Amino acid sequence: MDRFVKSYTNPDGSEVYRFHCPGCKCSHLVPVTGPKAWFWNKSTEKPTINPSVLVNGHSPKPDEMTRCHSFVVDGRIQFLQDSEHELAGQTVDLPDPNPEVLFPPDKSGEKA
Ligand SMILES: [Zn+2]
Repeated sequence: MDRFVKSYTNPDGSEVYRFHCPGCKCSHLVPVTGPKAWFWNKSTEKPTINPSVLVNGHSPKPDEMTRCHSFVVDGRIQFLQDSEHELAGQTVDLPDPNPEVLFPPDKSGEKA
């Protein structure tokens, strides 16, 4: 099952993929080709991406912004201690792909 799915291709041809973050309960975007690309092992089922994914604020409301810092390794997501959600310090499996989380119909403000 694809837990790391293609999100979009930039005008310069670089590709961005996304995964469902169980800590933030939303998706995080990762560029996988092009000059700003992360390392990616090319597995959509058990992805490993490097370096870590740091998201400062996934909420459109500034008061609810939450830092999320993680490593994705072999299909599992390792949340570092400086994450500000309930899964900080824990390692969990990437969730099964949920289109409502990965591609919510009215999503705005999502950022890489
Ligand atoms: Zn997150």
